Amino acid sequence: MFKLPEQINNIFKVFKKNGFEIYLVGGSVRDLILKKNPTNWDFTTNANPQQIQHLFPQSFYHNDYGTVSIPLESKSQENSIIVEITSFRKESNYSDFRHPEKISWAKTLKEDLARRDFTINAIAYDKKTIIDYYNGQKDLNDKIIRTVGDPDKRFREDALRLIRAIRFASQLGFFIEENTRKSIEKNASLISKISWERIRDEFLKILASNHPVEGILFLRNTRLLKYILPELDICFSIPQKSPKRHHIYDVGTHLVMALKHCSLPDPITRFATLIHDIGKAPTFKKDEKTGLITFYNHEVVGTKIAQKIAERFRLSNKQKEKLIRLVQYHQFTVSEIQTDKTIKRFIRNIGKEYLDDIMALRFADRLGSGAKPDSWRFKLFRKRLIEVQQEPFKITDLKVNGYDVMRILNIKPGPKVGQILKEIFDKVTEKKLPNERKILLKEIKKTLKI
Ligand code: ATP
Ligand code: MG
Repeated sequence: MFKLPEQINNIFKVFKKNGFEIYLVGGSVRDLILKKNPTNWDFTTNANPQQIQHLFPQSFYHNDYGTVSIPLESKSQENSIIVEITSFRKESNYSDFRHPEKISWAKTLKEDLARRDFTINAIAYDKKTIIDYYNGQKDLNDKIIRTVGDPDKRFREDALRLIRAIRFASQLGFFIEENTRKSIEKNASLISKISWERIRDEFLKILASNHPVEGILFLRNTRLLKYILPELDICFSIPQKSPKRHHIYDVGTHLVMALKHCSLPDPITRFATLIHDIGKAPTFKKDEKTGLITFYNHEVVGTKIAQKIAERFRLSNKQKEKLIRLVQYHQFTVSEIQTDKTIKRFIRNIGKEYLDDIMALRFADRLGSGAKPDSWRFKLFRKRLIEVQQEPFKITDLKVNGYDVMRILNIKPGPKVGQILKEIFDKVTEKKLPNERKILLKEIKKTLKI
């Protein structure tokens, strides 16, 4: 019925030849029905993990979940095929809202599908027919996320499902069915039982999805945001409409609007865009007489908050650095009267590798405050960013200048000053000396002895 890659067909063949039941489930079945190309393949089978490993000696077993992974050779790295095979399981006792106390094996596909989270994830395919006990195809067609069975019970068994529901809604552009949504709201506090690593994975998937804004609003409306990103949640109660200010939205709405306009797909760039003004909540001040609202030093306070968030979300060092730097330097001015020196300092501060990201953030920030895009100014700034980076290294780029030479050598302005600077410049361009102030000052002192 569906055309499958050769290696996937082969997996069906090997299991069936050995007398086992084998079905595709989860994301790949969803994708096949939606006519998208599946990226990862989850199977379920009545073979036990040892039997699976016996059929595929190159596989390995993660015994926490009863899942066996099979690495498959692929011609191109990008299209590498990931296959995970899980033996039929059923739900057993959950005492901590996270893991069942032990894995309980099931005998039938029906039992296995009953323990899956959402109806759209509980459809199986055996290469001939689609097996759909919970009307997953109808929900897929109607664009609905709905738990398999009673939502309260399912979310209490495993609270990760609370945020998974929102992740799937954001990725697929679906609605969350009314009872499921109400139950998420009711059980929101249980998310605190889940490890930050797992919350982070789901949260970054929401940000990287096609509907990140809807995802954040779902999180807010179901009260999950309060538990995972309280610093953002309070921003929705911070006004910024005030005399002499162009802002029309409260801080939270502005941040979400900025996210909406972020043109880059990277989840960390989007994360930074979403929290760039997070320091405005603690720095909010309103002058009672004039009604003027200020957020003095908000980017400094915001940088500290971003740091805390990065740690809490267990971001990698690289992700952490990027998130913090983008928040720290988001306030730069884009103006045609800036000097090259100012632009160079800006590049040094943010770091060359994050230039595209900070530009996307700044552009989104502007659009997200209801201001005009101001495209020509951005275009010019971008052009200058490239130009100043291409400029050759000049004497004026040295970390010492004529005043240093005159002071150290106790001489008056004159050709000698330029001559000494030129000698130092030559050494730096020939890489005999680094362009570091301390070292260059010493070098000037040396000429005194000669
Ligand atoms: P994708 O791989 O695109 O993220 P997926 O639906 O395949 O989406 P996985 O996390 O790979 O999601 O899980 C595979 C399947 O396992 C799901 O479709 C679902 O049937 C089941 N599953 C995963 N996590 C849970 C959970 N916490 N509770 C219940 N069932 C789950
Ligand atoms: Mg999957």
